[in-house]
Amino acid sequence: MSDEKKLLSIVIPVFREEAHIRESLKVIASYAAKCGIDYELVAVDDGSPDNTWKILQELASEIKELRCIGFVRNFGKEAAIRAGLETARGDGVIVIDSDLQHPPELMPEMVRFWREEGYSVVNAKKAERGRESIINKLGAAVFYSFFNKLTGGHFKGSTDYKLLDREVVECYLSLKEHLMFFRGLIGWFGFKSKDIPFTVAKRTRGSSSWSVKSLFRLAIHAITSFSTLPLQLVTFTGILFSLAALGLGIQTIYNYITGKAESGFTTVILLILIIGSVLMISLGIIGKYISKIYDEIKGRPMYIVAQKGDYREDAGDGA
Ligand code: UDP
Ligand code: MG
Repeated sequence: MSDEKKLLSIVIPVFREEAHIRESLKVIASYAAKCGIDYELVAVDDGSPDNTWKILQELASEIKELRCIGFVRNFGKEAAIRAGLETARGDGVIVIDSDLQHPPELMPEMVRFWREEGYSVVNAKKAERGRESIINKLGAAVFYSFFNKLTGGHFKGSTDYKLLDREVVECYLSLKEHLMFFRGLIGWFGFKSKDIPFTVAKRTRGSSSWSVKSLFRLAIHAITSFSTLPLQLVTFTGILFSLAALGLGIQTIYNYITGKAESGFTTVILLILIIGSVLMISLGIIGKYISKIYDEIKGRPMYIVAQKGDYREDAGDGA
């Protein structure tokens, strides 16, 4: 067992979880205590409009290992994870959801793989998706098969529930991009990693804040972050249409020469419609990439911290 692996940080993004955060954090803390290593909990309140921040503050005075940060507004889970990783001081960091859908009982095993077997990344992967709606299941299946094709990665069942060694955290923090996709990036790095399967538990309480719309947005974000294939698709469609144009062109000229050129309005209308939509979609794809360049170049911060919770500087150090 390496002597450098002394402190474990557990990063927990929290958004609108007032209904259960008190119990959930205690459960997470109880399993953290079973990992056989000093630990700190870093809870990041992602601008919750409810009482989450207040409860976190109260908890910080009860659980001495807990440190909290709060955003001024909701910046999204990616930003919360980023802030947590920036704040974490551990030699290893676990990122885990606050709603207990990521079973905390896996943590001791994750730590074992990291400390004793030298894995830099331990991924908890969904063996079987828990009780989710058909739309979510179907969406995830379509998304991951498409995403894997585009990026050459293996993201099926991939989640944000991961243990990262300090070297991986540093690597992640050194990236200059603002529009991040945590679970994709960690796989993309290619550090020595171990997968542990788990079954997704039912949400403790409250409801998932992901709507179909936001999942769709995440899918587009993930794909455009890792691949420029959609741009090449535009060119490909262009070539396909040129070939069709050539065929139709020849036919039109032939009809003209042979004096059969008066009919064909249906074809003209259809062509205008098809070409119009292909052009619009192509412009949309190009526009998406341009808007990403625009967002990146502005270099705005990923999040703005409103409050740093009270925590003891000695949290996690010592016994
Ligand atoms: N979360 C967050 N910011 C958001 C949405 C969610 O920090 O804008 C947190 C949330 O509190 C939870 C985790 O991210 O700890 C996963 O969220 P959720 O359970 O809503 O998503 P799902 O389990 O459906 O992926
Ligand atoms: Mg959840």
